[in-house]
Amino acid sequence: MVLIDELLSKERFEGLSPAEFFYRNREIAGFSNPVRALYQTIRELVENSLDATELYGILPEIKVTVDVISPEKNIVKVRVEDNGVGIPSSEVPNVFGRVFYGSKYVIRQSRGLFGLGVKMAVLYAQMTTGSPVRVVTATPRSRRIHEFELMIDITKNRPRILKHNLIDNSKRWHGTIVELTLEGNWSGARRKVVEYIKRTALIAPYATITLKSPDVELHFKRLAYKVPEPPEIGRPHPRGVDIELLKSLIAKYSSGREDPPTLVDFLVENFEGVGRITAESFLKWAGYDPEMPIGSLTIEALDDLARKMREYDGWRRPRAHSLSPLGSELLSKGVQGILRPEFVASITRKPSSYGGHPFVVEVALAWGGEVPVSDHPLLLRFANKIPLLYDEGADVSRKVVDKIDWNTYKVKFPAPLAVIVHICSTKIPFKGVGKEAIADVPEVEREIEGAIRECARKLRRYLTQKEKELSLKLKYVTISKYVDEVARALSIITGDRQEVYRRRLEEMIRSYILMKEVRRGVRKSKR
Ligand code: ADP
Ligand code: MG
Repeated sequence: MVLIDELLSKERFEGLSPAEFFYRNREIAGFSNPVRALYQTIRELVENSLDATELYGILPEIKVTVDVISPEKNIVKVRVEDNGVGIPSSEVPNVFGRVFYGSKYVIRQSRGLFGLGVKMAVLYAQMTTGSPVRVVTATPRSRRIHEFELMIDITKNRPRILKHNLIDNSKRWHGTIVELTLEGNWSGARRKVVEYIKRTALIAPYATITLKSPDVELHFKRLAYKVPEPPEIGRPHPRGVDIELLKSLIAKYSSGREDPPTLVDFLVENFEGVGRITAESFLKWAGYDPEMPIGSLTIEALDDLARKMREYDGWRRPRAHSLSPLGSELLSKGVQGILRPEFVASITRKPSSYGGHPFVVEVALAWGGEVPVSDHPLLLRFANKIPLLYDEGADVSRKVVDKIDWNTYKVKFPAPLAVIVHICSTKIPFKGVGKEAIADVPEVEREIEGAIRECARKLRRYLTQKEKELSLKLKYVTISKYVDEVARALSIITGDRQEVYRRRLEEMIRSYILMKEVRRGVRKSKR
């Protein structure tokens, strides 16, 4: 006992700042080595740039530059420029210098969500090369461009501003440039970065994206001039609540009010799709007086209320207004632009939900063209328009693709088939914090399978038609082989010129093939 007391007296208790936590555990956020860290840095910057444009209806114009400063020491400079909404100068220090600070803590589909990404990149750069982040930004119609250089005070989780310049903005430029110098291995990361940019161009065909690096230049010009309808900010769905969420919503809703708000008003005004009638029927079912003041609920009652809200099956389904899927037309455009297939089928499913979170699944199947021939379908996964390049084996889409018997759809491997799966949600059910694989939530799995099968049926029709065309062509070739011989025989019998018979026979075969094609055309249009 004495020994324990003595040891305990030597222990020092202290808190850990979020910045310090991530500094110590950077692998969690994907910064495990110079290859992965470079890839992750580019990803975080590009995703912020895309959010800063398309969430506001701006056609994105994104320029990524990678410069290798010192190949021996693996020092790389990354610069990403966008034409987005910019960042108000008062927010710049916190946005880049304070872990868990951002504008995306709302119920709305976006690429970012934790308010962490870019700070990880800043921390990593600072830690490996000692250099600050450089930010140049202007909001629309702003008269000044702000240029900052800053670092993160890790123990305080606070920004440290090293430089702040104002530049005249006579041209009214708006957007953001972020520049970081970090330890990164370009030759190791190149393949993944190129793949990432390509796939980003596929899922955002309304964006112009360029990559400049010492050895690769990519230029994806936008293929469409329409940004998908930006998502609206939604409210939580009653199916997705827990006691903490209830507590914080109650605190926010009650603050500054003179009359204590009632339970029914609280439900109607704070949750998605809850009208007065729905709220009253729920409260009756749950055994609560609709008029009771929310302040009088005990912790036990809150716990019970949250549980019953999750269980009740009379809620309306979450709406999809806080989501922003591409739509099947844009998805097809993106796929055509990048994979150049001979055939593409795409579909955007109706909104669905799991655990109170709305989601939409979009799928495209691409066949032939530049799709590589392989023993398995090539799978391209996306979540909220982010390409997922790692952990494919653990992803629910892989499971669904492997489960399908592709023979049913006339696909015989090896084949040039690509399956593109995109899930949009206000909360993507990722497996783990790496945000690379999607968990097998039954509702999500069902939607993915339904969408793939729907596209696969279109593919089967295409392949069937192609097969028939091919067999017709083969028939033509086979019959044509006999033309000369038959013409010669006829000319011997009749004494007429062989050439005349040859021409006649060829005409006959051509009109026979044409008749077959027309007949099939008629049948097809009847369908
Ligand atoms: P997250 O993207 O998850 O919110 P980040 O740390 O990556 O977290 O970014 C923090 C915040 O910084 C964002 O929420 C956004 O408000 C702002 N931000 C970052 N990059 C840009 C940019 N290029 N343009 C406009 N705002 C940006
Ligand atoms: Mg981000």
